[in-house]
Amino acid sequence: MALPRDYTALTCALSRSLEIIGERWTLLIVRDAFYGVHRFGDFAAHLDIPRAVLTDRLTALIEAGVMDRTPHPAGGRREVYVLTPKGISLWPSVRALSAWGDEHYAPPDGPRRIFRHAADDAPLTPDGRCTHCDKAVDVADILLTPGPGLAPLTPGDTEDPVSRALRTPHRLLEPLPLHPSRRTTKGQHP
Ligand SMILES: [Zn+2]
Repeated sequence: MALPRDYTALTCALSRSLEIIGERWTLLIVRDAFYGVHRFGDFAAHLDIPRAVLTDRLTALIEAGVMDRTPHPAGGRREVYVLTPKGISLWPSVRALSAWGDEHYAPPDGPRRIFRHAADDAPLTPDGRCTHCDKAVDVADILLTPGPGLAPLTPGDTEDPVSRALRTPHRLLEPLPLHPSRRTTKGQHP
């Protein structure tokens, strides 16, 4: 029997996905957007990625319709990067790859971060179901919480604002509280 046509289509579908998200850094940028990172400088600081590369990857994600650049909700000239519905539909892939990494490469103490169902605080299974109520949990109902493998900060440690903010449980897709002083200081922000 001839090779079914859909075999070719399947291969093609995966390679097309990888054309978008297979570049180094790209899926980490998408993951950070799920975590609530929205500003260019915060992506750059958290991922420690060269700014030119970040610009390139964000441009590609916007061209692919995975992310969008919109005015900052608080006003001003600043813009933020957000996932589109097409980008949000990448969540099962990000979750599955994170679970795979936890299974095979987690620190000895356990994973650094744990996804929980916001409604009952129970951890999720690797396939995204709640271990308490068995619901398939929507991305907007997931809390990202520190896990046992997350090393505690010791005095004198410096940490980028995103890593610091993620030491507190945080609902996915909601903006991280990274710049609380922005509205109270009078202008003069770089
Ligand atoms: Zn639940």
